[in-house]
Amino acid sequence: MQRQFSSALAITALLVAVPAIAQQTSTTPQTPAAQQTGAAEQQNRAAQAKLTEQWEPVPKVVTPGQTDAAPPSDAIVLFDGSNLDQWVNVKDKAPAGWKVENGVMTVNKAVGNIETKRSFKNYQLHIEWRIPPDITGTDQGRGNSGLFLASTGAGDGGYELQILDSYNNKTYVNGQAGSIYKQFPPLVNAMRKPGEWNTYDVVWTMPTFNADGSVKTPAYVTAFHNGVLVQNHSQLKGETVYIGKPEYKKYESGPIKLQAHGDKSEPISFRNIWVRELESSTASGSR
Ligand code: MG
Repeated sequence: MQRQFSSALAITALLVAVPAIAQQTSTTPQTPAAQQTGAAEQQNRAAQAKLTEQWEPVPKVVTPGQTDAAPPSDAIVLFDGSNLDQWVNVKDKAPAGWKVENGVMTVNKAVGNIETKRSFKNYQLHIEWRIPPDITGTDQGRGNSGLFLASTGAGDGGYELQILDSYNNKTYVNGQAGSIYKQFPPLVNAMRKPGEWNTYDVVWTMPTFNADGSVKTPAYVTAFHNGVLVQNHSQLKGETVYIGKPEYKKYESGPIKLQAHGDKSEPISFRNIWVRELESSTASGSR
């Protein structure tokens, strides 16, 4: 054992020594002039590198939540499980009439859609939703709801990211969970089983309009369903419509709206909703 160890040590010493010797013999001493040129070159490289360094403005500090699902320090909490103070009924703007119990809000189909009191332009949003374990129905009549990224009017006016039970439930693909309803199917189906919580994390870039109402820049949606990318900077064709072609209508800012769909299936639930407002130019590259 002892001998094995010593020979291993000797081999290691040799491996280290040989390249070191080789290096010594191949290095020719530099003349003072060559040394000077080398230093100047180094200085020049450092100066060149400085030209592409950006030091300001310094990004503000945001303290993240305990988990990635928890609201960071600059988020507006829209629902923390305690009340619906941030929400109103769409139809009469009265305090939202959905049920809050055990930290969860549940759709009240009789009341209809609800929306935030606040209006938003561009934002990052987190929302969690659950299809009840005893869900019934098929196709679009099974756990249908919707996250309207901007409400632009009564009823279902606005831009809908579809919510539906898409766990073993066949429907048209641009109407399944994670679709921009009737515009873009999700890239994949990342749906969890009924009874389990789903998450959406969404980046909404609102459309902008010229004075005459024509579109200056379209709306974009990036969305993750349970952490899986389902919409990748999708360029919207206009507002969500059930029948016909989507069209844009000028608006300045809009509430976030949740859908009480008229189908007969059991109502779905929501929890942990928060939003971070973003500057109007949201792309890091365009600042
Ligand atoms: Mg819907």
